[in-house]
This record gives sequence, C-alpha cells and structure tokens, in this order.
Amino acid sequence: MKKCFLSSLAAASFLASPAIAQRDFDSVEITTEEIAPGVAVLFGAGGNIGVSHGNDATVLIDDQFAPLTEKIEAAVEALGAKPVTYVINTHWHFDHTGGNEKLSEKGAMIIAHDHVRVRLIEGAPEGSRFPVPPAPEAALPVVTYDRGLTLHLNGDTIDVRFLGGGHTDGDSIVHWREKNIVHMGDLYFTIPGWPFVDTHSGGSVKSLLLTLDTVLAMIDDDTKVIPGHGGMSDKAELLAYRNMIGEAVARVLALKNSGSTLEEAQAAEPLAGFDRGEGLIGADDFIEFIWISFE
Ligand SMILES: [Zn+2]
Ligand SMILES: [Zn+2]
Repeated sequence: MKKCFLSSLAAASFLASPAIAQRDFDSVEITTEEIAPGVAVLFGAGGNIGVSHGNDATVLIDDQFAPLTEKIEAAVEALGAKPVTYVINTHWHFDHTGGNEKLSEKGAMIIAHDHVRVRLIEGAPEGSRFPVPPAPEAALPVVTYDRGLTLHLNGDTIDVRFLGGGHTDGDSIVHWREKNIVHMGDLYFTIPGWPFVDTHSGGSVKSLLLTLDTVLAMIDDDTKVIPGHGGMSDKAELLAYRNMIGEAVARVLALKNSGSTLEEAQAAEPLAGFDRGEGLIGADDFIEFIWISFE
C-alpha cells in the first residue's frame, strides 16, 4: 500500500502535465473489498473509498483522482450498485476529492464539512506542502454542515461527523451505526511513515488526538475501521496509533518545554525509538507538526 500511496502522490504532483498524469493513472487498478452486506472499500490511488449501496442509493466516501472516475464507476457497478447518488468528502485534499467534478456532472450530490467547500474554492498556495489550484464550481460540495448530518438509507443509519478535525480543519468521520463500521479519512493511516497533519489547512496534532479519542469512545472491538490510506483495521490498532502519537507528543514537548529550538529538537531524534518505516512523512516533519500544534 505504501508504494501505491507514494506513487499516487508523485503522480498528483505532475497534474500540471496531463500526459504524465494520464500515463500514471492508466496503470492504477481499483480493487474491491466487501466488508459487510452493502458496504465495500475500493482501493486504488489516493484515499480509500467507502461505498454504501442497496435499495435506496449509492454513497461514495471520497473519490480519489479524476482520471480514475470511470474505473471507480466500473467497480461500483460490479458490486451491483446503482450509479453514485451521494459523495461525501472526508476532507478537501485532492487525493480524496479529485472525482467530484465528473461525478457531480453525472448527477451525484457532493456533501462535506463547511471548511471543505471553502478550501476547495481557495486552493492551496505555492509554499504549501501540496499546492493546489482552486477547484471548479462543479467540484464543490452543495450540501455542507458544521457538526455533521445523518443519512437514513440502505438499511442503515450513517452518521457523518466533524469531531474537531486534526489532519485538516474539515475532517469528517463516517459511521455506519448498525453495521458497526467507521471510515476515518486521513485522521488515520495504516501505511508506513508518520501521520500527516496539514498545518497549512488548519490541521493540528492537538485536535487529531482529541478526535481520535472521541472515535475510540464511539466504537468497540468488533468495529471495522477504514483508514484514509492503507489496509483495513480495527479498534486495537487505532488505539495503538493514538497512543503512539500521544507518546511522540510527550517526547517532543519535553524538549520544547526545556527550551530547545525546533532544529535542536529534531537533531535530538526524540522519535528514533519508534518503528514507523519509510513513508511520505518523516520524523522531522512530524516533530514540526507537533511544534506548530502546541504553540
Ligand atoms: Zn489522503
Ligand atoms: Zn489528506
């Protein structure tokens, strides 16, 4: 999964060059994991897509990149599902919202937190970790919310909740109450590397910890947990992830509170004991995210 994630980001950074982007996305395959009756996860390039389907509607949670829309639609059809009725964006990042424009033009309704719409309109300026141009009108959510909303369909009650964000300032989690499933968006990764906290988009390690604690209090040992990137997970792994972040914060803040500069703290390698592997976000990046989050 790591390779897949990194290659998708590498491809995304070349979006200014359609030929390169097209070639990279051509080789992407969408794979499907059915995790409960009427619920599936689609893995491809970009954020994991949750699908709710049944008699009432087809709901996508996130939609990856625009060049993948036809492949995603084919994967949805292969489930026996109707065409996409609703798209929920867990947050505004381009690897989760790239399909919005095409899907909305085909009649899907885009739903997201208020801040997702604002950030899609504004884009991310040069100097951000991932600069992004403003999104076209058709890609924008048409139903937005502050705290959340609930969908009553396909024999389930599906809560979409903003719990304070953390990865950005507009992260929602999606919770199937009866089927006991939660989609975490990028509040949770099961890929190597450190968590990505997009401080340019209002992300905060402090908020991330609070949000993870809220989710952990909502779910149980049988809950199926869909991460933003990486394979399926569960409550025990999510708890370990939260505790890993908590311990990292304690170590970094100990240095900060003793008067270290950020550079000195990074040089002291306070996270050296963790085995996070090689990923998009390195230990020095994560130390900086913590530093900024607790100023
Ligand atoms: Zn992502
Ligand atoms: Zn993200």
